[in-house]
Amino acid sequence: MLKDKDRIFTNIYGWHGSDLKSAQSRGDWQGTKEVIKLGHDKIIEIIKDSGLRGRGGAGFPSGLKWSFMPKEVKDRPHYLVVNADESEPGTCKDRDIIRHEPHKLIEGCLLAGFAMRAHCAYIYIRGEFYNEAFVLQKAIDEAYDKKLLGNNACGSGWKFDVFLHRGAGAYICGEETALLESLEGKKGQPRLKPPFPAGVGLYGCPTTVNNVETIAVSPTILKRGAKWFASLGRENNTGSKLFCISGHVNQPCNVEEEMGISLRDLIEKHAGGVKGGWNNLLAVIPGGSSTPLLTKNVCDTILMDFDSLKNAGSGLGTAGVIVMDKSTDVINAITKLSHFYKHESCGQCTPCREGTGWMWRMMERLVTGNAEIEEIDVLLEVTKQVEGHTICALGDAAAWPIQGLIKNFRPLIEERINNFNSKSTKAAE
Ligand code: SF4
Repeated sequence: MLKDKDRIFTNIYGWHGSDLKSAQSRGDWQGTKEVIKLGHDKIIEIIKDSGLRGRGGAGFPSGLKWSFMPKEVKDRPHYLVVNADESEPGTCKDRDIIRHEPHKLIEGCLLAGFAMRAHCAYIYIRGEFYNEAFVLQKAIDEAYDKKLLGNNACGSGWKFDVFLHRGAGAYICGEETALLESLEGKKGQPRLKPPFPAGVGLYGCPTTVNNVETIAVSPTILKRGAKWFASLGRENNTGSKLFCISGHVNQPCNVEEEMGISLRDLIEKHAGGVKGGWNNLLAVIPGGSSTPLLTKNVCDTILMDFDSLKNAGSGLGTAGVIVMDKSTDVINAITKLSHFYKHESCGQCTPCREGTGWMWRMMERLVTGNAEIEEIDVLLEVTKQVEGHTICALGDAAAWPIQGLIKNFRPLIEERINNFNSKSTKAAE
């Protein structure tokens, strides 16, 4: 369990003010100039040593990502872009950071931006976050007023600007290259990679795109040191993390916990337990809607970090934990997700454009059982044809929940088909 003294987000529930004065009383914007004095490379080294992995879903080592930026600024400026397009179903952590701890994010922009030799950060926030955008802009204005941003940010001699950009609410704009396209004023469709953003990103310039949580935790790591952060969690899965717990629990919540906490502790200690008790648990989607679900026997012992969940055939993703008790029609639940991904496909590549619609229609038939048993394998085969054959990860995100369903609940699907067929036969007789 994470101790209070190790908590990074001390105002995640908004019990205190989000304004600059309140944030400073919690330690934000304290010692920022001293961190900048460490220099670009030292900051990146600290983040590398801390073991911080990106909190947006992929879990790529953050320090390594920052180090991909060119070491010298030549004819093209460097940019930091913050992905605040949080749209993965089951995920609501960045929203609370922006609402209640906006100064952690803005200070993180300055420090991360400085480390990668950028003079400017863009925060791309999803369109539906109207109130959050308002709070964040207010915090940015406060930071400019107190000269924490601007020509001589924090008196460090480094010029740094932060711009807030509101998206129009498309899920695909959370994909980093689609986000860059959208920021440039174009249709939000993912780009083919390579080139990667660190070489050719925003306006064709070196760019790093990071999630809100990744940037917001970096000032605390830089001030408290890599060793402190690395002492939390497990090897290769260090630090603390915001978990979002929703679904059939008694108290849905966001909570900061140590990486590697057991799923059972997370649900029972923070979310009031599964409705009807632990034995009433059917399955859990552990990392936002795209990660394959886990059955109860896996949930009994699984640890919540990147490697444990990967080894269990799922993923930590955004740490959006969706709990389903035994009252859930799990086939219908996954069908809803299939519809979501079909709706959000940008339509650029054929396997995703056609495949997501095909998979959703097939899932709709499985909900009632109006299918043949052999079609389960056809569906599984189609998910494999979509997975890994698309420009961006949305194809995978659409395929994985279905694969998880078939892997863990095939007998249930077969039972539903058999029931449907026997009812049809009786009706015909
Ligand atoms: Fe667009 Fe889907 Fe292709 Fe991604 S995988 S680029 S969302 S069509």
